[in-house]
Parts: sequence; C-alpha cells; structure tokens
Amino acid sequence: MTKPIKIRDGLTIGGQQLQLLAGPCAIESRSQIEAIADYVKAYGANFLRGGAFKPRTSPYAFQGLGLEGLELMVSTAKQYDLAVITELMDVRKLEHFLALEVDIIQIGSRNMQNFDLLRALGETRVPVLLKRGMAATLDEWLNAAEYLVAGGNENIILCERGIRSFETSYRNCLDVSAVAALKQRCPFPVIVDPSHAAGKSNLVTPLAMAAVAAGADGLLIETHHNPEEALSDREQALTPLQLKALLQQADKIARTFDRHF
Ligand code: PEP
Ligand code: MN
Repeated sequence: MTKPIKIRDGLTIGGQQLQLLAGPCAIESRSQIEAIADYVKAYGANFLRGGAFKPRTSPYAFQGLGLEGLELMVSTAKQYDLAVITELMDVRKLEHFLALEVDIIQIGSRNMQNFDLLRALGETRVPVLLKRGMAATLDEWLNAAEYLVAGGNENIILCERGIRSFETSYRNCLDVSAVAALKQRCPFPVIVDPSHAAGKSNLVTPLAMAAVAAGADGLLIETHHNPEEALSDREQALTPLQLKALLQQADKIARTFDRHF
C-alpha cells in the first residue's frame, strides 16, 4: 500500500491525485523560469522542477546557475504558488536548500548511492525524491532509500528515469516493470521521469502514458518555452503545447483507474 507523502497543506504525492512535476532541465534566467512557471501553473500543475546545480557529463557543459539559480527558482515558484523540486548534489549546499525551504530535494541518478548525502538528508524531514541509479537494481535502490529511513526521514518518493541498456534509439530504457513491482513491494510513492528515459521529445508522451497505466503516482517532465534555445537537454524538452496535450492524455488514462491529475 502506498503511503502518501505530505508536501504542503493540501498537497500530497501518492494519493488519488497524480502530480505533474514540470519545468526546465536547468534554470537559465529569471525570464526563462518565469515564462515556464507561468504555463506550468496555467495547465494546473502544482510543482515546478528545475536544476540550479546540474550533474553534467562534461565539465565544459553548462553547469547551472548555482545558488543564484536556486534563489530564482524559489522566488519564482512563490510568485506562482508552485511547490519546488530541485536537485542537491553536494552536502555542503544542503543548508541553502533548507533555508530556502525547498519543498522536495531531488537526489539524481548519479548520486543514488552517495551514502553521506543520503545520511545527511536522513537527519532532516524534507521530502526527498530519490532517482534510480542508471544501473541500479530495485534492491540497491530500496537500500539507498533505507539510508533515509534509518535516519528517521520517511518522506521518500522514488523516481524511475530509465536504466542503461544496449539500445541506442533512445537515451535510457524506461523500466515500467519497476513501477509495478515497487508499488507491490514498498510504501513509497513512485514518480516516473519519461524525459530522461526518452531523450527525445517525441517519445516522452507515449512513455508517460505507459507509466500512468503501470501505476505511477505522477510524472516528472522537462519542458521549455523555447526548446531549441535550452542550455541543457533540449532534445527532450516538451513545448508548452506538447506538455498541455500530455497532461490531458495522461489524465484520461488515470481516470480509467479512478485516479486523476
Ligand atoms: C534531472 O532530473 O535533471 C537529471 C539530471 O536527471 P537524472 O539524475 O535522472 O539524470
Ligand atoms: Mn535534464
């Protein structure tokens, strides 16, 4: 049985209502994050996602705006009454995330087994969205979650984002089986990120539909008001209209299971 996680008064993840966590890969500027927050809010989402500290494969790629980005994210989300989800990579930055009252701290795939980071978050009660490592088994993933539980933080949301496979037609292989299996195995809500699995915008919507049908409690989606100009992950970013269409279709599927967005 899934135990819903309370994020704010009247806002939970893991209940009858599925949640859309949408926003850019990275926060790029105030005008960018405001433009995106504006349509994310208009479509009825409750969460704004976006990275200020980015785990980029190349050290020469855009690394995110850092603390300035985090502040932009939090102030913009406040302006639009959206909850914030953003990635923490370094335990030394945790105090800023707590001071700015980030609603959900994302631990990315590359840090799923960063045990010191997990231990530090275990001492807080901040909701943590723990992404699956790109080659992690469900046992390894659930043991990583256990580091949070061991410290007393049970506000855990799991996020399936695709695992490495031999296939090169898409970025990662979305493990829909994991969603179904986790729903039977553990009490944590499961969010699916089809954006980092697909790597291509035209595959995001079909993967999102499969995720909802498999029992996901919500979707983490990358979107940009102008994808061609995005500074990171531009190929997988949905346009505003694509995001709106995805949400409408996903809601229809959710309703066949007596749930809704
Ligand atoms: C992200 O969500 O911005 C991200 C970097 O994802 P992942 O950790 O799944 O690669
Ligand atoms: Mn990204």
